[in-house]
Amino acid sequence: MADWKESVENIVYSGRIKVPYKWYVGEVGSRFLTGLRDNKEFWGTKCPKCSKVYVPPVKNCGECFALTNEWVKVKDTGTLESFTVVDYSHAMQPVKAPIIYGLVKLDGASGSILHMIGNVKREDLKVGMKVKAVFADKREGTILDIKHFAPA
Ligand SMILES: [Zn+2]
Repeated sequence: MADWKESVENIVYSGRIKVPYKWYVGEVGSRFLTGLRDNKEFWGTKCPKCSKVYVPPVKNCGECFALTNEWVKVKDTGTLESFTVVDYSHAMQPVKAPIIYGLVKLDGASGSILHMIGNVKREDLKVGMKVKAVFADKREGTILDIKHFAPA
């Protein structure tokens, strides 16, 4: 008698598993998130060579690779440089759709921070509008300690 397994089609399903994990945000990320959580403050790092101010902070300048070991506090206000509206919900998104994501150049920073824009109708969004950070009531040391940015 032939081995029955020789005539069997092997069927394979793809799937996903959830794996709990921890991720260290690093010393620079920790200081940034601590400032948001404890004092509702935005801290960035300044490059000693080209004076670029990074918010969120980085350890080394992306332009000239210098060690950015000077900390500077920037304002919680800024300018909306770009935005998009997401009209579908997905498990990976922090809130239900519609979600407005925007690039905000904080006053005193050289680049932009990506976050959600709230308390505004999509038809009222304008590149160049002034916005201000709105902080979560309960802050836990994550980027979502910033609830969103709203028109200033
Ligand atoms: Zn630099």
